[in-house]
Formats: sequence, C-alpha cells, structure tokens
Amino acid sequence: MPVVASARPDLPERRCGRSGLVLPEVSLGLWQNFGGATPFATQRELVLAAVDLGVTHLDLANNYGPPPGAAEESVGRILTRDLASSRDQLVVSTKAGYRQWPGPYGEHGSRKYLIASLDQSLGRLGLDHVDLFYSHRFDPRTPLEETIGALGTALTSGRARAVGISSYSASRTAQALEVAASLGVPLTICQPSYSMLNRWVEEPDPGAGGRSLLEVASDGGLGIAAFSPLAQGLLTDRYLHGVPADSRAARGGPMRPEYLSEANLAHVRALDAIARARGQSLAQLAIGWVLRDPRVTTVVLGARTREQLESNLAALHQSPLTPDELAAIDLDAVDGGVNLWGPRSSDL
Ligand code: NAP
Repeated sequence: MPVVASARPDLPERRCGRSGLVLPEVSLGLWQNFGGATPFATQRELVLAAVDLGVTHLDLANNYGPPPGAAEESVGRILTRDLASSRDQLVVSTKAGYRQWPGPYGEHGSRKYLIASLDQSLGRLGLDHVDLFYSHRFDPRTPLEETIGALGTALTSGRARAVGISSYSASRTAQALEVAASLGVPLTICQPSYSMLNRWVEEPDPGAGGRSLLEVASDGGLGIAAFSPLAQGLLTDRYLHGVPADSRAARGGPMRPEYLSEANLAHVRALDAIARARGQSLAQLAIGWVLRDPRVTTVVLGARTREQLESNLAALHQSPLTPDELAAIDLDAVDGGVNLWGPRSSDL
C-alpha cells in the first residue's frame, strides 16, 4: 500500500545550518543492507517503514550496494512504485567521490566525474533532481574550484536542490567554504562520521585556525549530517556477548575485526551500563549523545530491520543528558580507532 508521508507521526526536525532546508533528526542511510544480497522486498519494507515513521530523508551515494548503484536502483523502484505522490515530502541525497567505474573518470572530484555520476544517479533513481548532492571526499589532485564549481553546476542546472561535502577535514571545509563564497555556490551541509567512539569532528585543526569541524561548519552556516552514530553497530547491544551470525561484523567488510578489541568492548560495556541506568538501550544513548549538540542537524544511521529503526527513533523522545551523565560518558567516549574514512579522504 502506498505510504502517505503527510500521515507521518511527529518526528523532531532541525534546520540545516542557515539554509531553508529542515531534516528529521534521524535519517536513514542506505550504505549497507541495500545491496544485491538483500531481497528487494526486504529493502522496500525498510524504506517504507522509515518513511511511515517520519524518516523523510534517505541518504544514498553512487557506490552504495554492492554492486555500486544497487541501492539507488532499489530506491528508484520504490519511489516509482510506492512514493511517487510523496516525492516532495522526501529528501533524497546522493554523493560522488569514491570509485564508481573503472578508469580515471570514475572517482574523486573532477567536474567530468561529478556531473556524469550525478546524471547516472538520477537515471537509477528515476528522478529529475536530488535534494542533496555531495562531494563524497576531498580530492587532493583536483582544484577545489573545480569540485565546488561542479556542485554549483548541479544546482544551477536543476539536478540538485542543495549541495554539500562529506568527510572533508576542518581545514578542507574552511577552504571549501571560501571557494564556494568566491564562486557564489551556496554550500548547505557537511557529512562527517561522528560517534561516542569517533570524536574527530571535535578536535582543533591547526589548518582551520585551531577550530574543529563542528566550529567551522557552524561558523560557515553549514548543517551537519553525522554518519555512523552507532559506530557501525558497535555502540549497540550487538557485540556485548560475542559476534551474532547475522551481524555486520560476521558478514565481513567495513566492520573490521580490530574494531571489536577488548579495549573498545570495555568502553562499550561501560556505556551500556550508563544507558541501562537511564532506562535506555545503548543505541538510544549513542543517538541522543550525538544529537546533544545543536550544531548537528541529523544523525544518518543504518538499520537492518524495522525493529532496529523503531527502537532507535525512541531516542528522540527521551530525557536530555544531564551534566553528570555527560561527564560519566566522557570517561568511556574515547577514540576507538573506528574512523574508516579519515585517512582515505579528508587527511590527504
Ligand atoms: P550506524 O548507524 O553506525 O550502524 C548501523 C548498524 O548498526 C546497522 O546496520 C545494524 O547492524 C546496527 N544497528 C542499528 N540499530 C540497531 C539497534 N537498535 N540495535 C542493534 N543494532 C543496531 O551506521 P552505518 O550503517 O555505519 O552508516 C549509516 C549511514 O551513514 C550509511 O548508510 C550512509 O548513508 C552514511 N555513511 C556515509 C559515509 C560517507 O562517507 N559520507 C560513510 C559511511 C556511512 P547489523 O546489521 O549488525 O544489525
């Protein structure tokens, strides 16, 4: 049955930086669980459940699958079959930056790649525009003027309603904001990883005058879409008693075995005890913790089932963290070496 997004329950929303765009506090990411190995019916059920629950922002990228493009194809089918009448109540995001096709024009930040990739994404999605288009990673070999200029073309050609950058360091974000201002391209959002075990966005960056990414983004009027708030599932009850057979860690891939170190698991257990003392799940605590910062617009989380998503959304209706709780969390919210994205992009 088609989902009518206007019948959605009240999910809290936040304004995206200084733009006109508002986003739900929780967004659904389609990086994992939307590839060829997951039946289309399962994917459709989860997307429709999300929209039904008020999660009106779907976060995609050209390469989400596997194979690359599979997640966009699935969403395209769902949009056509089920959500065509709700299109303008949804925010559909995509990105380009990682390898999408062989050869020199299939990745990074050139104008040729970004525009071609966006056109291919629109084809898979069956849309004439996306609501958000990102440069997925900083490209040290392409002038920022070219990358940001291509985002500007995405806007002026009508292919995207807003544009942003993902996994750029604080200093690269500051540079991108300067270039965007000089070109007259309104950057709307940045998308970094951020969780209790991955706090790089809080660290001062000498290249940005000692400001953190959170500060640079806020000063520049950018919204912040914080991805992997659950550290790919580590900040949930999934790994408290071993590695479940249906978990991301058991499947191999980006949830690397070293992330489940004894040191990390000790912190996870301590954080779980804090969550339980609040009557929450660890996942709910992890989501509420990222959203404690008003500069964060939305958390972009993954879910494999409707139950996971529903449970995560309950975090939005729980009591704010007290100063004592925040201080207790700080003792265990320490870097767990789980940031897969820093060295591959923003640190270059
Ligand atoms: P995440 O929210 O940190 O982890 C999601 C995983 O945690 C789920 O697949 C599930 O794993 C587990 N989980 C979720 N809710 C749970 C619950 N209530 N109880 C127990 N386990 C739960 O996020 P992520 O999937 O790593 O990333 C989220 C999104 O961020 C992506 O889909 C993508 O849109 C975006 N992202 C962007 C970039 C970028 O470069 N811009 C990079 C990565 C991700 P199991 O499958 O084990 O159950």
